[in-house]
Amino acid sequence: MTGDFRYRLERGGVKYACPACRQQRRFVRYVDTLTGEQVADEVGRCDREDSCGYHLRPSEYFRQTGTKPPTAAARRKEPMPEPEPSSIDAETAGRSLTGYGHNNFALWLCSVFGEEIAFRLVDAYHVGTSRHWPGASIFWQQDVTGKIRGGKIMLYDAVTGRRVKEPFNHVTWVHKALKIELYHLRQCLFGEHLLAADPVKPVAVVESEKTAIVAAGFMPEYIWTATAGKGNLKVVKLGLLRGREVTLFPDLGAFEKWKAAVDQMPGVRVSDVLERRASEEDRVAGLDLADFILREQAINV
Ligand SMILES: [Zn+2]
Repeated sequence: MTGDFRYRLERGGVKYACPACRQQRRFVRYVDTLTGEQVADEVGRCDREDSCGYHLRPSEYFRQTGTKPPTAAARRKEPMPEPEPSSIDAETAGRSLTGYGHNNFALWLCSVFGEEIAFRLVDAYHVGTSRHWPGASIFWQQDVTGKIRGGKIMLYDAVTGRRVKEPFNHVTWVHKALKIELYHLRQCLFGEHLLAADPVKPVAVVESEKTAIVAAGFMPEYIWTATAGKGNLKVVKLGLLRGREVTLFPDLGAFEKWKAAVDQMPGVRVSDVLERRASEEDRVAGLDLADFILREQAINV
């Protein structure tokens, strides 16, 4: 929009003192319809047309002052839209789906379930192998449209199935390991791609990738997904889960936070099974949902 079409005299009966004749409440200012702002105090029209006749149009004001209307960037009031999520191409991701003899997490999973079930799980969840650290695994996040939002690289202990956090926490991302610049990581649910295959199956949401995979081994009646982080509940999107039975299984100590986060989502349940069933020793030992499932071989919600 150019010229005076972008501006109109302010409506709503607000009148100011006229800058020319100084009469109170006779002067109506112009507003910029794009920004909703007045142009300047003296840009407007006096309603004493016969005795005063002052009328300064925005175009004249800009010409006289040598200024310009606010540019498109300056008048943008709403925050910039979030950039499109970046993604890893399927070929790159696909190349990681091998080498399970050097994948500590896969080896541990074999010790729990036997090879057949372990490989079915690794395959379903697209767990890859990384050379970033010897024995490391990649937990790919593929969204419901098939886009690979990213891959989290973590190192597990092949015997205990625990994360290796010494001498440092072994966790990073594929885009960082590949040194891809300007990567807009926007995480989705881990296991989200499984939703596309079955539109009605109940969905369970847990915190860690490992818990989702272990639970899927024992309770295939749910599609198990993970937020891939305690504070990452924004990946639980109602639109994605609408029409399904959804149960969240928070780890110990996270029940209240998770309940509050999904309070406005109809049909989403938060299970307190772990809070109810964990003993004092369990709490001291920092029992997580995967430990609990491995011990009980199931959870009765
Ligand atoms: Zn006037």
